[in-house]
Amino acid sequence: MLENFFSFQKQSIIKLVPATIGGFSLKIPVADIQGLAPGPTVVVTGGMDGDEYSGIEAAYRIVHQFQNGDFAGRLIVVPIVNIPGFGAECSQCPIDGQFPKNIFPGKAQGTPTEQLVHWLVSNYVSAAELWLDLHAGAITEGLNPFVYLFETDNDRVRACTEKMIEAGISSIVVMEPSRWGSKHAKLAEMGCTYVLAESGSRGNLKEDDVLRHIESVKVAFGAVGLIPAQKINNEPPAIFHEVVYVTGEFDGLWRAAAIGATIQKGDVLGEWCRLDGSDKKTIYAARSGCPLWWKETMRMQEGDVLCAIAWK
Ligand SMILES: [Zn+2]
Repeated sequence: MLENFFSFQKQSIIKLVPATIGGFSLKIPVADIQGLAPGPTVVVTGGMDGDEYSGIEAAYRIVHQFQNGDFAGRLIVVPIVNIPGFGAECSQCPIDGQFPKNIFPGKAQGTPTEQLVHWLVSNYVSAAELWLDLHAGAITEGLNPFVYLFETDNDRVRACTEKMIEAGISSIVVMEPSRWGSKHAKLAEMGCTYVLAESGSRGNLKEDDVLRHIESVKVAFGAVGLIPAQKINNEPPAIFHEVVYVTGEFDGLWRAAAIGATIQKGDVLGEWCRLDGSDKKTIYAARSGCPLWWKETMRMQEGDVLCAIAWK
C-alpha cells in the first residue's frame, strides 16, 4: 500500500472535461489551478502512455499538494491524458494503435490519437512555457529512472533547461539534440520547455518512484519561478548525448536477461528466436553505459525496442 495515498473531498478541484475523440465521448481529468500571484503557465501530464502508473500517481499528488494555489502562475495538470489506453491497460491509444507521445501538435480532424493530442495542445499546452510529461516503464518494460531534456536554439528554453540540470532534476539526464520538425523543437519555437521524466518500471506503483517524479517536478517548477528555486542533488547529473537501441528483427520470442543500473559492452541482453524455435541468437550490449529501458516480457515484434542504452 502506498504511504501517501489520498483522496479529494467531494468537491474535487479536478474536473472531468468532455472530449470527443474519434467519435467516442471521453471524460478527461483536468485540474486548472490559478496561483495566488502572477507567474508562468505550467502543464503537467501523466498517462500519455496509458499503463505508466507512477507518472499518473505523481500527477494526482501534484494536484493535491498545489490545490490551494500557493504558487505564482497557473498550474494545469492532466493526470491521465490517454484515457482510452488507461482503460485498456496499454501504452498506445487502442482506438487506432497510435502513441500520443509520438504525435505533435495533433489535428482536429485527424486520427483519434491526433484528435486527442490536438485537444491537449490547443486547450492547455499552447498557453504553457513549461510542459512536464511524466512517464514510467510500461507493463512490459524494466527501466532506470532518468529525465529527457532537449537542446534548443531558443534562449529562454535553454536557460530553463540549464537551471534544471544545475538543480539536479535527475541523476541521469539524456540530452536529445535539437532536430528540425521534432516535437521538442516545435515546442521550443512556441517558447515552451518540454521535459519528459521516467521513473518506475513494469507498470508497478512504488512509493520511491512516485516521490522521485514529484522531486523532479518541483525542480522544474522552481526553474520557471512557479515556486522558489529547488535543489535536490548536489552531485551534477550524468548527462548522456547518445543512445544505442537493440530492436527485434522479426516477430518471435524474446528471453530477456536480468539488467541492472549499468552495463558493460559484451554483456548478454537476452536471446531471441522465431516462434518455431529457429534462428536463435544471443544479443550482446554494443556499448558500455546506462540501460534506460528494456523489454522484459516474451513477445518480440519486428522493430520493438528490446533495450535502450545511454552510452556517451
Ligand atoms: Zn512512456
